[in-house]
Amino acid sequence: MPDVIVIGAGLAGLRAAVDLTAAGADVVVLEARDRVGGRVWTHHFTDGQLAERGAEFIDGNHTEVLASAARYGLALTDRDRELDPQATLVDAAGRAVPYHLHASLADDWKAWDAALAALQPTEEFEYRSLAATLDSLQLSALSRLVIGRDIRTEFMLPPEHVSQRFAAEIATRRVAGQRERHRIVGGNDRLAHALAAQIAGRIRLATPVRSIDADTGAVALRAGDVLQAAAVVMAVPLPVLTRLWPDIPAGLAGVSYGIGGKISIQFQRRIWRDYGRNGTVLSDRAWGHLWETTDDQEGDAGVLTSLMASHDGAALAALPEAPDQLVREADRLFPGAKGLAGERVHTDWTNDPYSLGAYTCFGPGQWKNAQAALHTAHGRMWVAGEHADGFSGFMEGALRSGARAAAAING
Ligand SMILES: Cc1cc2nc3c(=O)[nH]c(=O)nc-3n(C[C@H](O)[C@H](O)[C@H](O)COP(=O)(O)OP(=O)(O)OC[C@H]3O[C@@H](n4cnc5c(N)ncnc54)[C@H](O)[C@@H]3O)c2cc1C
Repeated sequence: MPDVIVIGAGLAGLRAAVDLTAAGADVVVLEARDRVGGRVWTHHFTDGQLAERGAEFIDGNHTEVLASAARYGLALTDRDRELDPQATLVDAAGRAVPYHLHASLADDWKAWDAALAALQPTEEFEYRSLAATLDSLQLSALSRLVIGRDIRTEFMLPPEHVSQRFAAEIATRRVAGQRERHRIVGGNDRLAHALAAQIAGRIRLATPVRSIDADTGAVALRAGDVLQAAAVVMAVPLPVLTRLWPDIPAGLAGVSYGIGGKISIQFQRRIWRDYGRNGTVLSDRAWGHLWETTDDQEGDAGVLTSLMASHDGAALAALPEAPDQLVREADRLFPGAKGLAGERVHTDWTNDPYSLGAYTCFGPGQWKNAQAALHTAHGRMWVAGEHADGFSGFMEGALRSGARAAAAING
């Protein structure tokens, strides 16, 4: 019998297992998929360019990610992610127009930023949604579209499903000018592989867990065996957790999850630059938000990525023909793109049985109800994963939650 069973080899589970092993524990990691990394998963194109199917950007204040990258010798790209209004398109009602030509946007963004800054991560803001914040401003229809798209991209759910408190929690962990500063050279999943290399021989891939009894620490595998340990770290996504843990507290089971997926398409050359564009498009269509993923990569080719977020985006992401649809849309925006389109990478996180969504999004009333269950032991079990940290929805939160669970078990 191992000392600790860790369920899930995403960044949270791997970090917990590394810290526990370093402290001398006998650890077994059970992972359903045939790879480590979970929602950190890099695609390699034949010419060496990359696209991230899941987590893509690292903020400059995500100290755990940065420290881990440094520890394992992983270099980072350095990006300047300021939105260039001249090079970005707003695609509304079938017309794609440069952002800076929409005169109402700049002032409305200022009003929105001020309204967001006034929200606090306190109980007073717990029960109201970002839809109420939007309603309190006199925004133009177009600003409402653009800011609404920004909210959906960030939270993967519409404004009415995001509590003001959660938005404030995220905002307090953000530093101006540090947003989306880096990617890991060679792919973000190198971080997962580096962590896994520290605990070689302790990870059992292709070993899905069917259920957990938190009181006894008994872990039933889908294959039929039952394993047991003195402590269990449960590091699976929240919607999966609700299925594996029959006694999950209501406050935790009720937390919302963002939904959607991603498509990345490689083009033989970066045709959007021919039109003076940077590849970033905010759209009222279901594909939502497009950007160039290869902005910090060498090569003639270029990759556009779409984040299909929220209900309409998730519905599109579920369709096998979605990549072809996106190529047609790229051709509408940048005529000639269709003839240059090559490999398409399509990831539907909502219908992936080991994710069942994108990441946590606390709706009105949900933050407060979930915190106690996220940060205490349940019999022999500790909860880890991005949902169990203030940096929820980020790789940073996953690493921090894993470190915290390990520290609690190590005593
Ligand atoms: C589309 C998208 C975009 C994102 N963009 C960013 C970004 O730009 N920057 C950022 O920092 N973060 C981003 N994230 C979030 C980031 O990916 C996550 O916060 C983080 O990777 C979560 O790590 P985790 O260890 O908590 O969960 P996961 O990575 O999901 O790991 C959980 C593991 O549990 C395994 N598992 C599931 N069920 C079982 C079972 N029954 N038995 C055994 N194992 C099981 C899974 O296979 C998985 O390996 C994004 C996520 C998505 C989906």
